[in-house]
Amino acid sequence: MDKVSLQRIEKLHPVVREEVKQIIKECDGALTGRAKIRITQGLRSFEEQEKLYAIGRLTTGKKVTNAKAGQSIHNYGLAVDICLMIDGKVASWDTAKDWDNDGVADWYECVKIFAKHGWDWGGNWKTFKDLPHFEKKAITTKKGLVKTSWRTLLKMGRDKDGYVIL
Ligand SMILES: [Zn+2]
Repeated sequence: MDKVSLQRIEKLHPVVREEVKQIIKECDGALTGRAKIRITQGLRSFEEQEKLYAIGRLTTGKKVTNAKAGQSIHNYGLAVDICLMIDGKVASWDTAKDWDNDGVADWYECVKIFAKHGWDWGGNWKTFKDLPHFEKKAITTKKGLVKTSWRTLLKMGRDKDGYVIL
């Protein structure tokens, strides 16, 4: 796993850090060709989210998100965006390319591995498809299974590092 991805994983919510490392290990293991996973974004602050929401609304450009501050799972460190690094050099967001020639697009191989671990893919969303995006659907806590919708997360208390207390 590359250093940049690892640094981003270390800022995710502590409950998913090991799992994301495991997912990446499995993805890189499955992609036996030229592609490897890179985490392009993990935790995103409320301020950063506001700035993204403003693009195409308050500032020029195409809209990049429908989520206001607090409405993205990134704001809780429970979502990641990925790209594929080809030959360790070039970033690719091509979701159809089969870099390892095994008959399945590399991106989709990753989608399946994320899904196995209970992560939702933004490519399955009906409105505003977000192909690089994955988010943790639910987390098992001492209190039982917590569904990680932003409405639930927004109401939760935070620890000293700012992570929601699950
Ligand atoms: Zn995302």
